[in-house]
Amino acid sequence: MLVNFFGSRGSLPSPGLEYNEYGGNTSCIQIVDKETSNFIILDGGTGLRNLATKLLNSDITESIILLSHFHWDHILGIPFFKPFYIPKFKFTIYGPKKTKEEMYNTINHVLAEDYFPVNFENFKADIKFDTFDEHKKIQFKNFKIEALWTNHPCYTLSYKISLGNKTLVYLTDHEPYTERLHKVHPQLESYNNSGSLLQARLINYLADCDLLIIDAEYTKHEYKNKYRGWGHSSINDSIQLALECRAKQVILHHHGQERTDEQINMIYSQLMQLFKQSNINIKCTYAKENSCLEI
Ligand SMILES: [Zn+2]
Ligand SMILES: [Zn+2]
Repeated sequence: MLVNFFGSRGSLPSPGLEYNEYGGNTSCIQIVDKETSNFIILDGGTGLRNLATKLLNSDITESIILLSHFHWDHILGIPFFKPFYIPKFKFTIYGPKKTKEEMYNTINHVLAEDYFPVNFENFKADIKFDTFDEHKKIQFKNFKIEALWTNHPCYTLSYKISLGNKTLVYLTDHEPYTERLHKVHPQLESYNNSGSLLQARLINYLADCDLLIIDAEYTKHEYKNKYRGWGHSSINDSIQLALECRAKQVILHHHGQERTDEQINMIYSQLMQLFKQSNINIKCTYAKENSCLEI
């Protein structure tokens, strides 16, 4: 499985020279089956625009888009996604809504006349909508997909994707349950709003994954002093979770909107020093726009 990063910035695109190395586009990742070239797309942030350019020359014209949730940074690329304007393409867009109609309405709302000059009816591709939640499992081509609710101010899904014997988990826009509990989805009523039970369930879901792409928006200091309750994780919390679930590799994603390349490189070198001192042995890198990883 190939993992192509087209956007890993959180909350807002960050254009500018100081963001060039890690990139300023918001969440969008393409997962490719190397054997067949079939692919799926995780989130439709502004990174979707650069992925579109790549797809225009591709022989594969059918795919699915898995939306974690509908905050701007995860859907802003949708109106600009060129394959939607070309009849040969076929997509199903999945996301955490109760009905297909709600999915359609939410996306179509972004295309309302006040926000964008083109509405959904102008798209030429075959586009369908479907819902996703924690009880659902689907297969697209050779990819098997399931999901789990994250801890975020709106209902948000983490997706787990398996291909052959490899498993990847995309867990963005998540705050540790043990720090602050956001509105719990009705599907989780049996957990009685218990942060520790929900944390145990998450670790079970993540157990032994080959790759964990995880929200690491803040430093420990930023999180404790300013951003507790904003629905995101600190780098330290995310590494701790990756270690607890025995992930084989972790990629830090959803970089703070003002986090410069220089700061990321500094944080990373401090992190590697800490790993060395504490004898921590896990493959860990920062997500970098336009980079590709094979698992
Ligand atoms: Zn986000
Ligand atoms: Zn969000």
